[in-house]
Amino acid sequence: EEEKPKELRSPICVVLGHVDAGKTKLLDKIRQTNVQEGEAGGITQQIGATYFPIDAIQQKAEKLALDSGFEFKVPGLLIIDTPGHESFSNLRSRGSSLCNIAILVVDILSGLEAQTRESIGLLRQRKTPFVVALNKVDRLYGWKSTPGGAIRDSFAIQPKSTMQEFDDRLRRVMGQLAEEGLNSKMYYENESFARNVSIVPTSAMTGEGIPDLLYLVLKLTQERMTKNLMYLSEIEATVLEVKVVEGLGTTVDVILSNGILKEGDRIVLCGMSGPIVTSIRALLTPQPMREIRVKSPYVHHKQVKAAMGVKISANNLDGAIAGSRLLVVGPDDDEDELREEVMEDLAQLMASIDRSGVGVCVQASTLGSLEALMTYLKQMKIPVSGFNLGTVHKKDVTRASVMLERSREYAQILAFDVKVDREAELEADSLGVRIFKADVIYHLFDAFKQYMDGILE
Ligand code: GDP
Ligand code: MG
Repeated sequence: EEEKPKELRSPICVVLGHVDAGKTKLLDKIRQTNVQEGEAGGITQQIGATYFPIDAIQQKAEKLALDSGFEFKVPGLLIIDTPGHESFSNLRSRGSSLCNIAILVVDILSGLEAQTRESIGLLRQRKTPFVVALNKVDRLYGWKSTPGGAIRDSFAIQPKSTMQEFDDRLRRVMGQLAEEGLNSKMYYENESFARNVSIVPTSAMTGEGIPDLLYLVLKLTQERMTKNLMYLSEIEATVLEVKVVEGLGTTVDVILSNGILKEGDRIVLCGMSGPIVTSIRALLTPQPMREIRVKSPYVHHKQVKAAMGVKISANNLDGAIAGSRLLVVGPDDDEDELREEVMEDLAQLMASIDRSGVGVCVQASTLGSLEALMTYLKQMKIPVSGFNLGTVHKKDVTRASVMLERSREYAQILAFDVKVDREAELEADSLGVRIFKADVIYHLFDAFKQYMDGILE
C-alpha cells in the first residue's frame, strides 16, 4: 500500500533579548510592512503568536534567497509574540526545546545586557540554535537609510565614518559574545553555523536587514531541522498561559508545536494539585482585524494544525499550570499513564528539593521559569526547601517562616516574576521572613548573595 505524502509543519521561532532592545518593534515591522504593502496576506494573529505564511516571507527575502539558490519548503513560520523568558522557558519538552530557532535581539548601542546574557544561558540549556539581530543600526551617526532594504545594500551607501562606528560597535559585541564563550560572525561570512553564531544587523525602525533576518531564520530551520521534525506527527503542545475569560471561564492558551488538535479531544494537563483530564469544548483564535463587526472576539476551529497558537475552552481548567505539557488521549492510550506522564515535570522539581528540609522557598510564574530558577540555584549551591507557582500569598510566607526556627538565614522567599500580595508582605514583615523579588534570575541571586554575605560578616 502506498503511503500518503505527509504534510509539512511550520517551524517555531521565539524572540529574546534585553528590555528595549527592539523585540516588539521588530515583530511589528515584519507584520506591518507586509500588511501595508499589500503583500501576500494570510498573516494571522494567533494566541501568543503570529503566523507568517511562506509567501509573505518569500517576498521579503526573495532577493537573498535567489542569490544563494535557496528553496523555501516549510509552509510558514510561527513567531512567538509574547517575547520574554517565561514563554521561552515554557516551550520545552523533557528539557529540550519545542522552539526550533530563536532571534536574540541586541541593541547595537548598548551591547550585551543582563537579560541578553540570561537569554544566552537559556538558549544554551535548551540547545536552541539562534541568530543575533544587531538592532537599531539606524541610530548610528550619519546613517543613510533604505527602508526595507537588504543590509549589504545599505552598507554600500554609508559614509565612511558611519561604517567605522558600525565596525567598532560590532567588534565590541563580538568581544562580549566571546566572553560568553560564543564565536560569532557576520551572517554572510559565516561558513559554519555549528561553530559560529550569525549576526544580522537590523533596524526595526527602517526595516533594513529584515529581509536578511527572515532569509537566515528560514535557511537555518530548514537545514538544522531533521526530516522528522519537518512533518506533522504526534501531538506536542504546551500551555503558555492560564486565563479567565468572560463568558468562557478559565481557558488555557496553548502553543501547538506538532500534530493536529481537534474539538472534542480528551486532554490531560498538569495541575498544582494533580492531573486535569477534560475535553476540548472550543478551539479559538482571535478574529481577523477586519471582522470587528462580529460579536465574538474569537474564531472557532474544528481542528488546528501545527504550528499554531490557540486558546482552549474546556471544563475544569482552574488549577492548570502555565508551562504544563498538554497530552491528548488517543484510542490506544491508557489514560492513567498519561495522567502520570503529565505530572512528571512537577514531580522532578519536587525531587530536586533539598532532603534535609533546610533551604529557601522559591516562587515563580510558570513551570518553565520555576525550572530555570531551580536549575540556577542548584548551580549556585543554594538549597531549596519548597516552591510554589503564582502570586506569593500569606500561606507561602507561613511556610517559609518554618525556617526561622531551623536555620534562620534561609527564612526567605525568592520570588521570580510574580506579585506579592499585601497580606503576604505584612505577614513577612511581622514574622521576619525576607522576600526577594526580581524579574531577572541574576538579580535575585545577587540580592540573596549580598544578604548572606551581610549575615556572615
Ligand atoms: P522590547 O522591550 O525589546 O520589546 O523593545 P521595543 O520594541 O519596545 O523597543 C524599545 C524602544 O526602542 C522603542 O521606543 C522603539 O521604538 C525603539 N526601537 C526599537 N527598535 C529600534 C530600531 O531599530 N531603531 C530605532 N531608532 N529605535 C528602535
Ligand atoms: Mg516588548
